[in-house]
Amino acid sequence: MSDQVLKLVPKDKYFVPEINSAEKARELLEGFFPDGEQAEVKFSDSVRFIDSGSNLEKITCSLCRKSTDINPFQENDIGTEWWYELDEILSSSPDLQALNVKMPCCGQYAAIQSVDFCGSASFSMFELCIWNPYSDDGISKVQLLELEGVLGCKLKQIWARY
Ligand SMILES: [Zn+2]
Repeated sequence: MSDQVLKLVPKDKYFVPEINSAEKARELLEGFFPDGEQAEVKFSDSVRFIDSGSNLEKITCSLCRKSTDINPFQENDIGTEWWYELDEILSSSPDLQALNVKMPCCGQYAAIQSVDFCGSASFSMFELCIWNPYSDDGISKVQLLELEGVLGCKLKQIWARY
């Protein structure tokens, strides 16, 4: 069975909350999803790529505006091969600020942070997440607002599957 992870990251990728606020938010999240397996907070010194595992379906190029499908079940798929290569680069935690990637659509080099992952990935220095929340409805607007209040920032949600 696959794992589902609900990741909440600041919309402002450079925003980092106080440790106490983060812990409070983690406890709140745990309370929202009592059947969840593990609520965690992650801090990093630099902007990290927040992925969605196999939920990533397409990307849009910031240079030519073309979209490319990512389909891990299709062999020799240009978008998927591009993604596998990039995924390997990203997992070696490079300096994302300086990382340019060759786009599968037009062959031009684009700043990684300018690539549109169509809501299925983000960039941030802080992440609040919970594993297998077992909720079909996801997180409610009210719950999201409460977490935003505690953390002091607007949040973006990414659903990941591994
Ligand atoms: Zn392009």
